[in-house]
Amino acid sequence: MNFRSTRSDECVSPSYALLHGLAADGGLYVPESFPEKVLSYKELAGKSYQEIAEAVLSHFFTNFTAEERKQMIASAYNDMTFRDDRIVPLHSIDTDLSIAELFHGRTLAFKDLALSLFPYLLTAAKKQEKEDRDILILTATSGDTGKAALEGFKDVAGTNIMVFYPSEGVSPMQKQQMQKQEGNNVKVSAIYGNFDDAQSFLKRVFTSAEVNAYANDKGVLFSSANSINIGRLFPQVAYYVSTYVSLVDNGAISEGETFDVIVPTGNFGNILAGYFAKKMGVPIGKLICASNQNKVLADFFETGVYDMNRDFYTTSSPSMDILLSSNFERFLFYVAKEDAAKVAQWEKDLLETGKMSVSADELKTLRQEFEGGWIDDDETKAVINHVYNDFGYLLDPHTAVAYGVGMNRHRQGLDEGRHTVIMATAHPYKFPPVICEALALRQSDDPFDMLADISSVTGIALPKPLADLKDKPIRFSDSIDKEDMKKAVLSFVDAIAAKH
Ligand SMILES: *Cc1c(COP(=O)(O)O)cnc(C)c1O
Repeated sequence: MNFRSTRSDECVSPSYALLHGLAADGGLYVPESFPEKVLSYKELAGKSYQEIAEAVLSHFFTNFTAEERKQMIASAYNDMTFRDDRIVPLHSIDTDLSIAELFHGRTLAFKDLALSLFPYLLTAAKKQEKEDRDILILTATSGDTGKAALEGFKDVAGTNIMVFYPSEGVSPMQKQQMQKQEGNNVKVSAIYGNFDDAQSFLKRVFTSAEVNAYANDKGVLFSSANSINIGRLFPQVAYYVSTYVSLVDNGAISEGETFDVIVPTGNFGNILAGYFAKKMGVPIGKLICASNQNKVLADFFETGVYDMNRDFYTTSSPSMDILLSSNFERFLFYVAKEDAAKVAQWEKDLLETGKMSVSADELKTLRQEFEGGWIDDDETKAVINHVYNDFGYLLDPHTAVAYGVGMNRHRQGLDEGRHTVIMATAHPYKFPPVICEALALRQSDDPFDMLADISSVTGIALPKPLADLKDKPIRFSDSIDKEDMKKAVLSFVDAIAAKH
């Protein structure tokens, strides 16, 4: 299977796409011909998560042998990396509502599902491309991605990772997770600046001839771990497939019966994987895109106009505080019926005016499969409180947004009696201040004090990754000026070269 750009007919191998991330024309890589309707319950029944992952990935990463893929999958999903041997367990709330728990990985966020496998795909691709420089992953993070990438790449041979986060822009728990990161190939630094400063600096590094030449001389190649890479996107298809199998096995639906999914959405990577699962044969009815107050996508699914010219809000679901969803372009490619010229024009409109729109016919067609919805922060806290009190189930703020959107849909009868699955993207204990507020518990400066309170009320034990974190020493306490980021990158390049 080769991969083509969403903006032209540029076409490359899977290993090239893995290593380079973005197409040369600025587009994103999509399968040259999508494997439609290749999965069925009959073939999947009784399979483990790992076997389902292989059934999915065998259609995309055809550059590796089945044996190679299976080995990578076994390294990514096991009892060292996930706290539940089902990897993505399904929790039944009611006869017509289930929750797919995507937060049992090492950092308690759904990004672990992709970032546990991605380093193996990347290093295997590096070998195939006969690239013998050491990889240095550079990442700017506003929270979950940085930690999940650090855990994924920690001590993976041939790779190194450096993460920058805004010193005042992440939660206290997220800060500790990064400052206490272990591994011999990692480096973390806070910067005095915001997420955009960190992000735009890294963009300049990736395109700077001088910095790239310096790294090249030292045997180092820059790469990124962001969610547009095919190595992050396609592993996510597997949990939609495993969720379907679990639903049938639990008796929530019968074989082939349609169900809806609601996905807390930021960069559109998670929900896009659901769309791909549907194309491959999983009987998903509607894919519902849930947003917080930054509701660009909800408005798009209502009106067909994607308009970024609006205020930006900082909310209690920070991983969804996004105005330009990086994976949305891939969705547009299918809306345009794989017409790359049309996508290129839409992207040009977005770049030049911050706005693009699809036709009335296109909107009608896409609304047969997609819907949007949103709720604000007050509703999010009310949902956390309600679901805890009525069902004894504690939601994180991102998942609560999806849940609230589902409640509104149900009230309006939009689910038409179909079973609904909510994709739960984080463990609630990653966000102690919001949970304390929702449950009317006291706030504290120490997130572990808040978790102790939440735990004594709910009886939910502290998950091991957080319990372990409490007593680990801080390794990375640097905060640097944003002007010094380049110096920090070059000095890490020197340190990598010194290890050779
Ligand atoms: C990253 C993230 C999201 C958004 O996922 P996308 O694939 O970017 O849409 C939602 N919730 C949590 C907790 C996340 O970490």
